[in-house]
Amino acid sequence: MMPKGTFSKLCYPLLVSALLYHSAGMAATITHETKVGDITLTALSESQSDGKIDKLLNFSDADKAKLAPDGTYKAGLNAFLVQSNGKNVLVDTGFGTNLFDNLASLNVKPENVDTILLTHMHPDHIGGLLKDGKVTFPDSRIYVSQKEYEYWKDNEKVKPILDAYRDQITRFVPEEIGSNKDLLPGIDAWQAYGHTPGHTVYFLHSKNSSLLIIADLTHAVYIQAAVPDVAITYDVDPQMAVKSRKAIFDYVSAHKIPVAGMHVPFPGSGKLLSTGNGSFSFQPD
Ligand SMILES: [Zn+2]
Repeated sequence: MMPKGTFSKLCYPLLVSALLYHSAGMAATITHETKVGDITLTALSESQSDGKIDKLLNFSDADKAKLAPDGTYKAGLNAFLVQSNGKNVLVDTGFGTNLFDNLASLNVKPENVDTILLTHMHPDHIGGLLKDGKVTFPDSRIYVSQKEYEYWKDNEKVKPILDAYRDQITRFVPEEIGSNKDLLPGIDAWQAYGHTPGHTVYFLHSKNSSLLIIADLTHAVYIQAAVPDVAITYDVDPQMAVKSRKAIFDYVSAHKIPVAGMHVPFPGSGKLLSTGNGSFSFQPD
């Protein structure tokens, strides 16, 4: 079924040709816009793919048979653009694959991105920060949690990025889940440690609406909603990642807060509904 997103404002048959052009060197732009009160949230799709369940941990044979009989799960990679009060805030940058074409399709130039909020510093989230060794967002302030910065600061792949953006980085300590202390107007940062030591989720709120950008709290959202104990080999601390996932799933389902995630299949957002006994079901937008 065709997702509800805006495919470069083209209809479906044209999308197919846009994707064909992609393989010939022209990028496809795939974005999806939602409103959170006065905030405009746009998913910027970097890629869509299936994952293989051999990367998943704590996944019982019975659950595999039920939830992933063909051995795969639906996934993807998204960054998000948050626009309010005339400001452009990017949450993660993906690998930088489609990012700049997606931003251009929204008339946002890299130099007009005011702020970049990082959820964590894995390459599929910070890859768009450098191109050919050069800074891609010369006028952006980059926010990263203190613990995340500490963990990666001497890593050979991350250090060049931190060095290039040295004067643009703000380190901060995310709040407890559910706190309402703004990091930026309408955006709170909450601790979701485990996937990486400083993994951070971002809570958007405006008027009576809200949404939580859950970052990499899920990689296989349908499976991990049903069985939040399922972790992934990419988790630095799988046990802590499970704890964070359960706490946040409980919070968003109790408060009916929609979610958007970096590895949630396009359009990257939906609702987590409790089905009892610590299980949830993910309803995509
Ligand atoms: Zn990731």
